[in-house]
Amino acid sequence: MKINTNYTQLKESYLFAGIAKRVKEFSESNPDASIIKMGIGDVTRPLCTAVVDAMKNAADEMGKAETFRGYGPEQGYDFLREKIKDYYAENSVELALDEVFISDGAKSDLGNILDIFDKDNTVLIPDPVYPVYVDTNIMDGRKIVFADASAENGFLPMPDDSVDADIIYICSPNNPTGAAYNREQLTEWVNYANSHSAVILYDAAYESFISDSALPKSIYEIKGAETCAIEFCSLSKTAGFTGTRCGYTIVPKALVSDGVSLNKLWLRRQTTKFNGVSYVVQKGAEAIFTAEGRKQIKENIEYYRRNAKVITDTLDSLGIWYTGGKNSPYVWMECPNNMNSWDFFDYLLKNAGVVGTPGEGFGNNGKNFFRLTAFSTYENTQEAMRRLTEMLKK
Ligand code: PLP
Repeated sequence: MKINTNYTQLKESYLFAGIAKRVKEFSESNPDASIIKMGIGDVTRPLCTAVVDAMKNAADEMGKAETFRGYGPEQGYDFLREKIKDYYAENSVELALDEVFISDGAKSDLGNILDIFDKDNTVLIPDPVYPVYVDTNIMDGRKIVFADASAENGFLPMPDDSVDADIIYICSPNNPTGAAYNREQLTEWVNYANSHSAVILYDAAYESFISDSALPKSIYEIKGAETCAIEFCSLSKTAGFTGTRCGYTIVPKALVSDGVSLNKLWLRRQTTKFNGVSYVVQKGAEAIFTAEGRKQIKENIEYYRRNAKVITDTLDSLGIWYTGGKNSPYVWMECPNNMNSWDFFDYLLKNAGVVGTPGEGFGNNGKNFFRLTAFSTYENTQEAMRRLTEMLKK
C-alpha cells in the first residue's frame, strides 16, 4: 500500500491552533480579563423561524408512511433547484434546472470539483486566500501559481496575460479581505479565461452581503462567463446554515472542454460519489427563498452589516487603511505602526483583550494585515472598537 504522498506536502494549519494557544495562555495569566472574539468566521444569529418551521414540517413528513422519503435525487430536489433558478433570474441570469446542483455546502464542492480536472493543470490562486483552494490542490499535486493581492491593487489581483493558468480561483466578496470585484474587473477575468481555455472556479459564498447594487452577485452576470465559469454558493453565511449544511453549485451546459461537457462530468461524479442533501435540510433551504424567509434572513444580514459599519467607522476615524466591510462581513485592516500580523495580534490581545485573525494565516501577502469579522454581537463589536480606539490613541 502506498499513501498519497501529496498529503505530506501540506503545511500544518497553525492559524487557528496558534490563536487558541495564545488566547489560552493570556486568559490563564489574566483570569479577570474579558476577551472579545472578533476573529470568528462562523455566524452567531440563529436560524430564522421560516427555516425552522419548514424543517419541523419536513421532519413530520418523514415520520409518516404516506409522506416518508428515502434516497432523493443526487443533484437535489426540484423544489429547491427551481427556487435557486428563480433567484438567479432576478439578476437576469437564466439557468436551466439541470445546471443547478444542491450541495452540503461550498467547501465540499470546492474540493470535490477537482475530481473532474487533470492533475497536470496549472492553478492560479490569489494570495491571501481561503486556505481550502490551496490545500485541495496540494492534495492532488497540482502546480500552483499565486496572483498577488496587495494594498496597491485593493486586494483584487487582475489577470496577467503572461501567466498561463488552466484553473483560476476567484472569491468575491473575498474571504479574508472583504474586497469585491466590479463588472469591468470580472469581465477582464472572464475574457482571460475564455482566451486561455481556462476555467474559473467562482466562490460566491458571500454574495448576500453585497449592498452596492452596481456589483455583480454572480459571475454569470458577466457576458461569456457561461463558457468558462463554475459558481459555488453557500447558505452558510446567507442564512446561518454553517451547522445545517446546504449550498449549491452551478455548472453551465455551455461549459465544454475538448468537446466534453463539464456539466455531464460533474453529474457523473455526483451520482457516483454523493447521495444528496437530506430532505429536511432542503426543505429548510427552500424556505429561505419564500417572501417570509427572505425578510427574516435579511434582518440577520442587516445585523452583521451594522456590526461591519461599527468596525469601518472606527477604522475611518483612526485613519487606518482597510478593505471590505461594505459588501462583506470581513474587514481587512492594515496593522498599525508597520507591525506584522502576529505582533499586532499579541498587542491587541494584551492591551485590549480583543482577538482577531492574523493575515499571515491566509498567505504571505497578509503579513501586515489583520482580519476582523462582523459575526460577533453588536454590543461586543462596539466594545471591541472602543477598546481598539483607546489603545491606539494612548
Ligand atoms: N468559501 C469561502 C470563501 C468561505 O469563507 C467558506 C466558509 O468560511 C466557505 C466557502 C465554506 O462554506 P460552507 O459552509 O458552505 O462549506
